[in-house]
Amino acid sequence: MKKHNFSAGPSILSEFTIKNTAAAVENFAGMGLSILEISHRSKEFVAVSDEARAMIKTLLDVPSGYEVVFLGGGASLQFCMVPYNLLAKKAAYLDTGTWASNAIKEAKLFGEVDVVASSKEANYTYIPKGYTIPEDVDYFHFTSNNTIYGTEIRYDPVVKVRMACDMSSDIFSRPVDVSKYDIIYAGAQKNLAPAGVTLIIVREEALGHVERAIPTMLDYRTHIKKESMFNTPPVLPIYSALQTLKWYKEQGGVEAIEKMNLDKAAILYDEIDRNKLFRGTVAIEDRSIMNVCFIMNDEYKELEADFASFAAAAGMVGIKGHRSVGGFRASLYNAMPKSSVEALITCMKEFEKQH
Ligand SMILES: *Cc1c(COP(=O)(O)O)cnc(C)c1O
Repeated sequence: MKKHNFSAGPSILSEFTIKNTAAAVENFAGMGLSILEISHRSKEFVAVSDEARAMIKTLLDVPSGYEVVFLGGGASLQFCMVPYNLLAKKAAYLDTGTWASNAIKEAKLFGEVDVVASSKEANYTYIPKGYTIPEDVDYFHFTSNNTIYGTEIRYDPVVKVRMACDMSSDIFSRPVDVSKYDIIYAGAQKNLAPAGVTLIIVREEALGHVERAIPTMLDYRTHIKKESMFNTPPVLPIYSALQTLKWYKEQGGVEAIEKMNLDKAAILYDEIDRNKLFRGTVAIEDRSIMNVCFIMNDEYKELEADFASFAAAAGMVGIKGHRSVGGFRASLYNAMPKSSVEALITCMKEFEKQH
């Protein structure tokens, strides 16, 4: 039976990515060797890394003055690298969820943190609005998509200070005006590649303004200077990332992907709103198009486990909600085909008929 992969991360990758990655594990670039066993400094792999970084610049229309680097350590390492490199005295953070608050915790190790707004008191069911960002901060940090709670900031905020963003779970899901940001980072395992590589897009001019000594490995300038080859990069995830980027290009780029994402999310939210058994968990205007969270309506609460088994029997994988929200979460990342979303909707309709 076909499985429909709604996992929150690591998550679905395009068939193109998986097929080409599997082929390279057997024989990479006609070298007669597996990509798992070649030098990261071989001309064949350097070409992969260069092409992937160049494609990111093209797909996201990255202006000059920015560099793209691949690092290890996940998005979680960026929670500390961003303040290490950019926080001289004070930074502003928007608290919209677990990942945002993890980033805040790390930033506090490096200076003063002004949490400009938080929706924690409402279990992060909405995106705070109307907050003010002090003009004397070194930067403003936010999380564009809250993977756990299913809220999203689907526009590029306009602020008077430098801006840093964790785009781990919605990168390449829409066009982004990179010129508004000083640093964008994203762990690969939601929308790009298997876990192990993190994508960073950084404005070079934003670096070098802090006094503290930065360990070599944690200094963005090290990796920019060495073109992501200062030490051994995550070779296989970078190869997979290149395949996903090629697939994005073939789909028509991020504009086309955004259209498909909006469509997929709209049909699922419509069903959640229509179906008597279910309801959404977050403010409608802040709904994420990547992670769709929903729960059983109060009068059907006892059916939750039954629906989980019913959906599993129909091939749905990874729809259990995060423990901090409960219910269900369907992650509709870029590689998710509309047909899988339709299969989930059919499942919800059929379950409704039985009750
Ligand atoms: C998954 C996720 C993270 C954590 O990423 P790691 O690579 O596991 O460190 C951080 N931020 C967001 C928004 C995420 O979705």
